[in-house]
Amino acid sequence: MTRMAVRDILIHPDPRLKTPATPVAEVTDELRALADDMLETMYAAPGIGLAAPQIGVMKRILVMDCVKDEEAPARPMVLINPSVVWSSDEMSIYEEGCLSIPDQYAEVERPSEVEVVWTGLEGEERRERFDGLWATCVQHEIDHLDGKLFIDYLKPLKRQMITRKMVKLKREKARA
Ligand SMILES: [Zn+2]
Repeated sequence: MTRMAVRDILIHPDPRLKTPATPVAEVTDELRALADDMLETMYAAPGIGLAAPQIGVMKRILVMDCVKDEEAPARPMVLINPSVVWSSDEMSIYEEGCLSIPDQYAEVERPSEVEVVWTGLEGEERRERFDGLWATCVQHEIDHLDGKLFIDYLKPLKRQMITRKMVKLKREKARA
């Protein structure tokens, strides 16, 4: 039996958050254990999505669960080597946040619907069309695998302001 563990989440700015992750070659027990840790870490934060680079693991794997209704059953998803194969012309704007950029939120425009292909935990190919919050979340997390953050969509001044706040936050955390 493996014990799940909450991992430390990297805070921006960190070079690992700007680095594209490497494709997963094979789905192993070690990778499944990583996925468990990522889900545990995401739920503990709490958050609705987490990509492996956010815990310093440079592999193309992400987890998400965008079920908002507390009465509804959880829907933990693990996506290995995900890629967007179709996106709608219609766009949506959501206020996004990020576990690596705590307490900072900004509106980002993305396609309203996307179709994503990925590898599942048994090595099988999966395909699904996402809309609403799920579509925003999966695109945000896939961006992480490409070394991109939601603040990269913002105007430079706003991005710099957020980055300065994060530098200050990290300095305070280091002192504590
Ligand atoms: Zn994020």
